[in-house]
Amino acid sequence: MKVYDLHTHSTTSDGVLEPSVLLARASAKGVDTLALTDHDSVDGITEARMAAAAEGIQLISGVEISVSWHGHLFHIVGLGIDESNGTLLEGLEGLRQRRDERAVQLARQLEEEGVPNPLAGARSYQTTKILSRTHFARYLVKIGVVDSLDAAFNLYLNPGTPGHVPMQWATLADAVGWIKGAGGEAVIAHPARYRISGIHWNRFVGEFAACGGIGIEVVCSNLDNFEIRRFAQTARDFSLLASKGSDFHSPNSSRELGVLAPLPADLTPIWHERAW
Ligand code: AMP
Ligand code: MN
Ligand code: MN
Ligand code: MN
Repeated sequence: MKVYDLHTHSTTSDGVLEPSVLLARASAKGVDTLALTDHDSVDGITEARMAAAAEGIQLISGVEISVSWHGHLFHIVGLGIDESNGTLLEGLEGLRQRRDERAVQLARQLEEEGVPNPLAGARSYQTTKILSRTHFARYLVKIGVVDSLDAAFNLYLNPGTPGHVPMQWATLADAVGWIKGAGGEAVIAHPARYRISGIHWNRFVGEFAACGGIGIEVVCSNLDNFEIRRFAQTARDFSLLASKGSDFHSPNSSRELGVLAPLPADLTPIWHERAW
């Protein structure tokens, strides 16, 4: 059986491996088909595609778009996109500008908490155009303010903490529209991550489907069997295709390339529908 991993990050956003190194690792881990889905950027795709050809891996060009929906942050993965599509590129550029504005405000708020030089510190971890909360988190760990990335998010970066900056990212309709307009398919990323009620979750998924979204990550890293069953049911209820992805960011973490449970047998994998 082929090994699929349809959600991964490189140095183009907040991953630590360059696209070519990511592909070499995917090959070593036995991945047959890999999607590179960096946050709000497709700049790594060209390098990834060349490396994939050298490694004999099928590369799906992808992206992970930040979406605000009724004040909640959601991530929508786009798979099989034309990464040169003008409307998509313009949309992503707008999100990156908002990231920079957020970073300045986030740094101000961390300074008020006594964190020294947060903007320069985060930038020292930034590898390309994207400045992510992950870069702030790595800096907070480095200077010893917290002892783990988890603690950095839970104490300084997540909603309800001193570093939280409310933002308006892409609308759900825009994100799905950009992906579909670029010839790709939209997938709800890591569904277990969203802290909303069941009613709002169903409303979100319904709107996603109404916008033209067709998939959901039923299997991702760190999901237990209960969660997999729950999101398999979401896929059935809304007639969505099932995707799987590790959300790999770095070696030596609990999220490893290609290490994923099988999809429930009755679901249709997104790669069947798209012949990937
Ligand atoms: P941003 O897109 O800049 O808002 O940052 C969100 C990113 O932070 C996500 O894509 C994850 O990679 C990362 N992240 C969120 N929560 C955690 C956590 N608890 N531990 C490590 N990384 C996290
Ligand atoms: Mn990330
Ligand atoms: Mn995400
Ligand atoms: Mn991700």
